Amino acid sequence: MPDPQPSIIHWFRRDLRIADNPSLSSAAESGLPLVPLYITSDWQGRHHWTGPNRQQFLCGSLAALAKNLETLGGRLIVRRGGAIAELRKIIRECRAAALHYHASPDPFGKSVETQVSLLCAELGVECHIHADIALHGPDEVLTQSGQPYRVFTPYFRNWENLPKSSPIAKPRPFKTPDHLTSLPLPTVADWGLEVPETQIAEPGESAARGRLKHAIAGKIENYSASRDFPGADGTSRISQDLRHGLVSIRTVHAACLKARAAADHVGKAGIDTFIKELAWREFYFAILHHFPNVLREEFNADWRGLEWHEPGRDFEAWKTGTTGFPIVDAGMRELLATGFMHNRVRMITAMFLTKDLHIDWKLGESWFMRHLVDGEIASNNGGWQWSAGTGADAAPYFRIQNPWSQTARYDPDGVYIKRWIPELAKVHPSRFLEPPKDGRPLAPGYPLPCVDHKTERERTLAIFNRLRSQK
Ligand code: FAD
Repeated sequence: MPDPQPSIIHWFRRDLRIADNPSLSSAAESGLPLVPLYITSDWQGRHHWTGPNRQQFLCGSLAALAKNLETLGGRLIVRRGGAIAELRKIIRECRAAALHYHASPDPFGKSVETQVSLLCAELGVECHIHADIALHGPDEVLTQSGQPYRVFTPYFRNWENLPKSSPIAKPRPFKTPDHLTSLPLPTVADWGLEVPETQIAEPGESAARGRLKHAIAGKIENYSASRDFPGADGTSRISQDLRHGLVSIRTVHAACLKARAAADHVGKAGIDTFIKELAWREFYFAILHHFPNVLREEFNADWRGLEWHEPGRDFEAWKTGTTGFPIVDAGMRELLATGFMHNRVRMITAMFLTKDLHIDWKLGESWFMRHLVDGEIASNNGGWQWSAGTGADAAPYFRIQNPWSQTARYDPDGVYIKRWIPELAKVHPSRFLEPPKDGRPLAPGYPLPCVDHKTERERTLAIFNRLRSQK
């Protein structure tokens, strides 16, 4: 029997938590029956960026969410298909009076939102779109003349001075209409993928809160000193949690402020640096919002039309971590083994692909998106364009990181390299700081460097200078 009362729908998208969830709390506020809804796309709706690591994490997080919703008295309703068709069906089935959800930060999510508003108008359903992803939306942080920032530092000065929201209380308990059917929780097979063998981070809201607690208690006060060393456990490891909304950005920021109040001088500096990184995430959301063309072309128009090499054997070596550059290979193998890569090494591997192998950053962007559990369209595009020298506030094209000297600086004892490249376990770390002098591989089975960094650096400079002279 259909429920005689109308219902309210909260549509979960990338906010897979019950704590500090503005849309869910607002939906529960009415006291009407509540439908916590998740709509999975199927393999037909699979984008080429969809990969098993992120989907596996998503599935685990949905399973945890289903349990958490039971503690509030509700039941997760899972449907599969196109968002508009499924919303239309469920709005009718539960006689929805209102639909609540959080706005998406990327053009794919946004294009659906326009259609959802039209659907709600057609069906006479209230449509409430809440802000959640960032402390400040892209239109909140603008120059004095109302233009988007193209450079991070002035963006950040403005961003840090704006008042920030605090987390809100947990939603009040609610009931989900009994007559509504739900599909089983999704598995990666729904996207035609196989369960990955990768050691991905533990999914779910409670694991994410544990990671945040651990980061705040033990890591962020030393963040300035340790964040660049991939062999150390010096960063928060919460990126996949922010990506899937297992913890809100307000909760992260509030925890930082609390820790900052109790920290000494050095600790405060560490926490400030950490907060600045949170602002980079929002800067890239703003770039993607105001300049969605960055997904197709270089942000900096001066560098549109660069000559890229056809991806061949070198690209395969990069993907599989067999370039013969230990720091690059360690990063690419960390990605394959865990669906994560340390930030410093993301920069090194991305610069290596674009500046040493001269391969289009879009191919690297795509490979990362397919493998990263934290794959975030805006940050990934921003990171790739930064590394390629083509992005907003990017590394200037002539500042080309040397993988050997980056190793000397950030992994001098080879801790990170040895962790991910077992063939090199017995090699003295001093040998990771320059190409093999004797022309022999560092260890049996480990390749010689696939290119000469100095030569490729010169080639990159020539490519950029040639394009500049043509414009
Ligand atoms: P922490 O150092 O502890 O930082 C805390 C949080 O701040 C991160 O979780 C993240 O949300 C944010 N953050 C930190 N650095 C950056 C940054 N440079 N840009 C944007 N946000 C940042 N980050 C993603 O979340 N998803 C991606 O798909 C992604 N792709 C990247 C690709 C490239 C080529 C590069 C150079 C960087 C990319 N980053 C991406 C940014 C960064 O590498 C990761 O956010 C970071 O390594 C995550 O680890 P952490 O949570 O321990 O970070």
